[in-house]
Amino acid sequence: MAEPVWDDRLISRERALQLAGRWPVHFDVTRIHVYVRCLRCGQSCGRFVTTPGAPNDSRPTDVEEILAAVLRHAVTAHDLALSGTG
Ligand SMILES: [Zn+2]
Repeated sequence: MAEPVWDDRLISRERALQLAGRWPVHFDVTRIHVYVRCLRCGQSCGRFVTTPGAPNDSRPTDVEEILAAVLRHAVTAHDLALSGTG
């Protein structure tokens, strides 16, 4: 299992899934990478490997990493509040 991508003391996994799971994104797929792009602003939320063992990245991506990247983008670029009922 990969290292934790967020601190459970700051935000529960349920809350992170609730927020990131509803954020609109699309996937730009190249031969080696998948770029997760925000549909609100078009910026990349993260770049992930499509093939384990691909150059410069030797491990596969897990869903938790993608959700964390989307959540990080929503918070930093769009001031999404982690707390509250939103
Ligand atoms: Zn955005």
